[in-house]
This record gives sequence, C-alpha cells and structure tokens, in this order.
Amino acid sequence: MDADVIVIGAGATGLVATLTVLEEGKKVLLLERDDRVGGRLATESVDGFQFDHGFQVLLNAYPAIKRWINEPALETKAFAPGAHILLPDGKRTTIGDPLRQPDMLINTLRSPVGSFGDKLKLLKLVRKVKTTSCEKLFQEPEMSTDDFLIRWGFSENMVSLFFRPFYGGIFLERDLMTSSRMFLFTFKMFAEGQAVLPQGGLQAVAEQLASRLPSEVLMLSTSVKEVLKQEEFVEVVTSTGTLKAKQVIMATAPPSNMEHPKSSWLSTVNVYFSATETSLPKNVITLLPGGCPVNNVAILDGAQPSYAPTGQHLISVTLFTKAGETLAYYAKQAKTYLAPWLADELPNWTPLRHYDIPFALPSSRHVSWKGDVTRWGDEQVIETGDWRLHPSLQGAMMAGHLAGKHAARQCKA
Ligand SMILES: Cc1cc2nc3c(=O)[nH]c(=O)nc-3n(C[C@H](O)[C@H](O)[C@H](O)COP(=O)(O)OP(=O)(O)OC[C@H]3O[C@@H](n4cnc5c(N)ncnc54)[C@H](O)[C@@H]3O)c2cc1C
Repeated sequence: MDADVIVIGAGATGLVATLTVLEEGKKVLLLERDDRVGGRLATESVDGFQFDHGFQVLLNAYPAIKRWINEPALETKAFAPGAHILLPDGKRTTIGDPLRQPDMLINTLRSPVGSFGDKLKLLKLVRKVKTTSCEKLFQEPEMSTDDFLIRWGFSENMVSLFFRPFYGGIFLERDLMTSSRMFLFTFKMFAEGQAVLPQGGLQAVAEQLASRLPSEVLMLSTSVKEVLKQEEFVEVVTSTGTLKAKQVIMATAPPSNMEHPKSSWLSTVNVYFSATETSLPKNVITLLPGGCPVNNVAILDGAQPSYAPTGQHLISVTLFTKAGETLAYYAKQAKTYLAPWLADELPNWTPLRHYDIPFALPSSRHVSWKGDVTRWGDEQVIETGDWRLHPSLQGAMMAGHLAGKHAARQCKA
C-alpha cells in the first residue's frame, strides 16, 4: 500500500483534505496534475504585476480561513467596505458602510442608490446576520437571492444599482438566482470582516497550505487517469505510474480528465489594464449596473500595493461575455462600456492580459454549510469540492476537511 489515503487535486479542497488526513495520523499522498498547487487560486507574476486568474478576494471572516490560514503571514491588505457606482445617467456615486467608516455617512445617505428606507433595511440585515451563526444562516428558508431581496422590501433601484452588480460579481451571475443562504452568508462575512488580497496574490493562500505538507506527500505534475476499485484497496492510475491506497478523495473540479458529477458551472472573463493615472477610487470596487458586459472594476494595487510596480496601477475588469476571444476584443469591449464615465482616461489604459474561465464557480441554487459526507461517495472513493457545499473558499476548505476526516476514519475501520 502506498498510502492510507490518496487525495487527487491540490486546490483549496484537496490541500485541506490532505492536512486533515495528516492531523488524523494517517499516511497520505496528494496528486496534482499541474506543476503548481492552488487550482482556481492562481497568480502569475509578470513585469512587476501580479495577475490572479479572475478577480477574486479573500474574505478574512470565513471560519475556514481562521482555522487554516495564518493571515498575518500572507501580509494581506484590504479593500475598503463599500462601492463606487457608475450610474446610468453618466454620474457616479460612492457608498460605504457608515458603521465602519463614519466619514462615509453623509455620502451614503445622500447617494441616489437606494432610498432612506433601503438604508435602514440594510442596517436591519446587518443586525440579523451578525446575530446569527453561519450554520443557522444555512438553515434559513432557501429561495433565490432575487426573491429574498424583494421579500425584504428592498427597492428596485437598490437591487438594480447595488445588489445586482455587487453580488453578481461574487456569484458570477446577475439574475441573483443563487441561493439566499449564500447571500446571507457572504453578507455576514462582509459585515464581520474584510475583503483582502495577499501580498503574493491569491495563489499564496494555497502555497501556505502546501508549505505545511511533508515534502514526500505532494506529487506535482501527476495527472490521474483512472481510479480502479479493487476489493481491499483502490488503484490510482497516473501519468507516472500506479499507486495503491485504502481510500481515495477526488478533489478535482472540472475541467478534468476525470468524470465529474456536477455539470452546471458559471464562467467569467477577466481583463487587466495598466495605467499611471485613473479617476476611479483606488480602494473600493467599482460597479456597473444595467447588465452590460462589464460588471465590476477594481484597482488591485489600491488595496494591495504589491500587485503593480511603483508608479503603475493594475486595473482588473470583470466581464460577463462570450468566451474564446482575444485580449484585443475584451479590452475593446471593456473600454466601450466604460467610455460614458471614463472617456478621457481610457486611451491611457494599456491592455496587459486576460483570463477566460469557463469553470469558475459551480452554480448554486441549493447550498449547505456542512452536508452529509457519508453520501459523497462509497466506502472507498469520496468526491468533494466547493460544489458539494457552496461556491467559496469556505465551502472548498470545509468540503476538504469533512472528506479528509471521513476518509481517515474509514481507514481505521
Ligand atoms: C474567477 C473566480 C473568482 C472567485 N472569487 C472568489 C471569491 O472572491 N471568494 C471566494 O471565497 N471564492 C471565490 N472563488 C471560488 C474559489 O476559488 C473556489 O471555491 C476554490 O478555489 C475551489 O477549490 P477546489 O480545490 O474545490 O477546486 P480547484 O481549485 O478547481 O482544484 C481542483 C484541482 O484538481 C486538479 N485536477 C483536476 N483533474 C486532475 C487529475 N485528473 N489529476 C490530478 N489533479 C487534477 C486541478 O489541476 C486543480 O488543481 C472564485 C473562483 C474563481 C474562478
């Protein structure tokens, strides 16, 4: 036997599953197809810029981040709470969280986004999520986020100008069909923590997890072709040979050469520009309501200076648009839709790179906090990932932890 447990896929799920098996005192191997860990947590460093594969933030209030990540060691820096909104009439407004940024109070109250009643409802919602545990929020009646916001009585103006682009950027869909439980959970995480970027980019989160593994555990550039169940053990056929274990955890999200049970995934396109100047606020995310291909814009070095060389800004634009086009195409599309507000400065934005991510997030009309791990496979093979619980690093790490614990305990039997 090569290991008690073999984990396939070194994304956040597989890394936490592996650490959990180790904690349970079992022998484990982690096989990863790529030559790096992280999966969807990926960062490329080029010419002093750090390009995450898709705009992504770390919500440092996630219980799993507190459990598994040493945040100070990542030297994270935060976006300010709130948003800058490019209004359909060509004007702009910035709203903040007045509880955490008292200087934003006047701006937020005067903003044309949402009525006074909407702002009171927001405060009521903050109170609700802060006084309810994550576990309990995932037991609330489940409906679409869109229905939930209507039932809470938010105005159409508030939903279309704020919630749709803000949560659209998080859920990667602007119809807000994602479960209201996911909405309440992320709302709580924003209310109780910050959206941060690690100094080394999002991939540094995965690298920190991997740094805790003994060197013999992690096998990079090892693609699994087949998992064959035998009577007493499982055979894992890889690009470099065949391994045997008592238990296998498959933490491979698509695209993978392995069969995957979940087929419905949401996509996104991310295009990066550099500029020496921009009139957009540096430390809050900018939203474009109205359903055009551009959904949100972020000046990444405004939150985390390590993302761009001195004197340059790294501007990330998230698009909901067709896949498979060129950088020139996406850059043109981004500039076309930003022109009503930024026409003067756009000629000085230089397109740098783009990422077209067809399998970014599992679509999630039904989500859960923990789930029943005994139903995630059979006595030998467990299939896990963010898609099992809810689409986030919290969901991925929790799914990894549950699978790791279950597999290790099955070995004891
Ligand atoms: C654009 C974008 C934005 C996001 N924004 C946020 C956000 O702001 N906040 C948040 O909490 N979450 C966000 N997420 C979600 C978060 O990144 C994921 O939930 C999490 O990274 C999923 O981890 P995973 O390990 O389940 O899957 P993955 O990271 O996809 O890992 C699967 C791994 O399996 C490997 N693999 C596949 N097939 C094989 C094989 N045959 N053999 C060996 N290895 C294999 C892959 O190479 C990969 O490393 C975002 C994701 C994207 C893409």
